Amino acid sequence: MTIAREQVRDLALFEDSALSAVSFYFQPATPRNKSHREQTILIKDLAREAMRNLESRTANKQARDSAQGDLDRVLRLSGDLRGNGTHARAVFACAAKDLWQEFDLPPTLPGTQLFVDRRFHLKPIAHLLGAFPSLGVVLLDRHRARIFDLRLGELTEREDLFHPLTRRGRSDGFGGYDAGQVERRVEDEARQHFKTVALVLKEFLEKGVFEKWILGCMDEHRPQIEAQFHPYVTHALLGHFNADVQHITGDEIRTRGQQIADAWQNKRRRDFVALALSQARSHGRGVTGLRRVLRALEMGEVQALLIGEDFQSHAVECSHCGHLDAHIVNFCPVCGHSTREIVDVGEAILPRVIRGDIETFYVKDDPEFDQVGNIAALLRFRVEGTQPVAEVPERIQTREYPGRLRKLAS
Ligand SMILES: [Zn+2]
Repeated sequence: MTIAREQVRDLALFEDSALSAVSFYFQPATPRNKSHREQTILIKDLAREAMRNLESRTANKQARDSAQGDLDRVLRLSGDLRGNGTHARAVFACAAKDLWQEFDLPPTLPGTQLFVDRRFHLKPIAHLLGAFPSLGVVLLDRHRARIFDLRLGELTEREDLFHPLTRRGRSDGFGGYDAGQVERRVEDEARQHFKTVALVLKEFLEKGVFEKWILGCMDEHRPQIEAQFHPYVTHALLGHFNADVQHITGDEIRTRGQQIADAWQNKRRRDFVALALSQARSHGRGVTGLRRVLRALEMGEVQALLIGEDFQSHAVECSHCGHLDAHIVNFCPVCGHSTREIVDVGEAILPRVIRGDIETFYVKDDPEFDQVGNIAALLRFRVEGTQPVAEVPERIQTREYPGRLRKLAS
């Protein structure tokens, strides 16, 4: 089964203080003739390494046994995954808490990976879900409409609406119709059919069945089809491709739909990056750099998060209140409890990003973005009274922290 947003949210909430939460991502071998043996050896190595890592971090026997049991199960599972080159697989497990979940993913993961930690490793999932809205693909001709969901590279048919055309054979002199009248009647029926489909689409969009959609039809029918759409439906249309509904295959529908969705998403990402950077420069609705982004996240200001594909940075996390700080301090500047070091803050922020339904874009090969710290956010608003961190004199900036810990905050 593919993963739903709610399930990702539940996974983001999961935490095992004994550090035995196992995340396994299996990317089928490419080229496909890479031997199964090689894959198995790789996964065995990853499991051994993950176990060694866990043993260096905890002496808790129950946690070690839990992780070892899950890793053994992952190894057995990976034996069965061979040959299934069309899907990647994700497993989230914590035997100590009686949890084992498997999901199919599109085979576009950066590689096979294994993690044992306090929380599940969700970056590959966040990467896939990214800011992708729920997408519909609608194939339409003059008497048929096929409506699909396109999600994580999977195409699923939702509706197949069929409106039979008037049979032309009966037209010659039948019931007093001449050829011209039949022609008009066929036109009327096609228009009525397009109108019905337009209403179904409007309803789907209003109900949130999908947020955006893509149209596949013969180019010559487009003007007639699009004339029937409510502006609301037109607004949600990402693009269209030329399609013969009778003959197009599922693979073609998926590929064409995905191309349009990817192009749209790439453009959106570029626009968001440009907007966040210019807004940050003018101290408007944008921030750049880890420190400001973490702060904006905690203030609940972030609308969209932009993060470098290879972003890596240390930070600390408060063991008590969860505060994340880009400064490596031993005690939390907010509540005073001890902190623990986090080696990948890009991963550590994901639970709150996912819980907050914050759109996430991964940015690649953008020198300007690199220069501002490889992380930025577009804000929905700025909490009143806060000023851009860089503009606030040190004296004022630290005032909000509890007195005892003031100096640790700067
Ligand atoms: Zn704290």
